[in-house]
Amino acid sequence: MAPVQHPHPLPSPVIIVGAGCIGLATAVELLKRSWPVLLLAHHLPGDPLAAEYASSAAGAHHLSFAASDDWRQRYLDMVTFERLWEESEIRVEGEERGVMRLTQTEYYKGDLHLRLLEELPDFRIHDATTLPDGVEHAVSFSSLTIEPARYLPYLVRVFTSLGGIMQRVPRLNSLAEALRYAESPLAVVNCSGLGARDLAETQDKTVHPVRGQVLSVRAPWIKTGWTRQVGALGGAEGGERTYVIPRASGEVIIGGTREVDDWETQPREETTRDILRRALEICPALALPPHATEPVELAELVTGAVVGFRPTRDGGIRLEAETLKLDAGEDLTVVHCYGHGGFGWQSMWGSAEETARIVGEEVRKKQKGAAATLLKARL
Ligand SMILES: Cc1cc2nc3c(=O)[nH]c(=O)nc-3n(C[C@H](O)[C@H](O)[C@H](O)COP(=O)(O)OP(=O)(O)OC[C@H]3O[C@@H](n4cnc5c(N)ncnc54)[C@H](O)[C@@H]3O)c2cc1C
Repeated sequence: MAPVQHPHPLPSPVIIVGAGCIGLATAVELLKRSWPVLLLAHHLPGDPLAAEYASSAAGAHHLSFAASDDWRQRYLDMVTFERLWEESEIRVEGEERGVMRLTQTEYYKGDLHLRLLEELPDFRIHDATTLPDGVEHAVSFSSLTIEPARYLPYLVRVFTSLGGIMQRVPRLNSLAEALRYAESPLAVVNCSGLGARDLAETQDKTVHPVRGQVLSVRAPWIKTGWTRQVGALGGAEGGERTYVIPRASGEVIIGGTREVDDWETQPREETTRDILRRALEICPALALPPHATEPVELAELVTGAVVGFRPTRDGGIRLEAETLKLDAGEDLTVVHCYGHGGFGWQSMWGSAEETARIVGEEVRKKQKGAAATLLKARL
């Protein structure tokens, strides 16, 4: 290991590893509770899109996959929904953040809607006699879409205004390596997403990439969201899913794919053709600009193709504390918050609040322990 350097002025900060939506939201929650925060990451908001920086590549809409009996995930998703819903009410600022309310319709073949959706505003089940061909069940409700290229910089602005410090670092080999950047951190919070596979202390091979390819389309006349789920979600994200995600900017994201353990970072041409076909099946209006007299070629409206790796973890998110023994014999408090698969944006505020609560509990426990030891030594 290179000689220890401490260029950072914060005394004993909480160090967060990761600047995706999870790391940044967690940092904001910690700062609001008055903990000093140093955030270290290899990828930062504003970087060119990279498949392994999932937050920059996401759709992203709020459409929970939480199984009806998965109360933890339901809670994290609903806390996030309520916070984003409130944020979207702030008219001018809401646009800067890229959060948009919309009516969402879900079509199903081979499965039924999840219970959590019934808690969302304006929920209704469609009359079975009105469904399009090949659709067996459909529901509509109000939901939200989030534009990562606007929301990530917004999180950075809040983070900085609360006194947080962010630093780009080379890819860390271990969480202990974070100690090069600040002396005696109160805790290290692991929000490394897919990175948790390789960090020396975690080496969590239950985390793996689920590749997603999406297209962006210039279609500002599309103001409602559409999805089609074919086959069972299987308690998470199974089956084939097609989606149309309008954004506040007038861009529409269409997708997608779910390719498990597929590390290909470049878009595939045959996948692009398949996405165009499926998106048109669920939302023919994509090819009907307001003044067109007949449908246009949807391919001509495409402005980009994006690939991202969802940081999926078997068994769901890892959200817990751990005490690591450092080489020098000291204890390092680590709180893990990674493995958000295809639902990190829609569970980010719930995850962040819970992680900040655990950090507070762990640090206070450690401080109490240290005080008791000191007192004992003096007696
Ligand atoms: C195509 C696609 C569509 C999606 N659609 C949706 C959607 O509609 N709704 C939704 O909720 N979610 C969606 N997701 C999922 C969502 O994007 C992820 O769950 C979320 O972004 C995960 O955030 P994260 O902060 O955990 O990880 P990431 O955004 O991947 O960030 C990880 C951070 O950790 C840093 N890091 C990792 N390892 C190291 C290391 N060793 N050293 C230093 N830094 C390190 C990285 O540089 C980065 O800053 C989608 C994902 C994809 C790919």
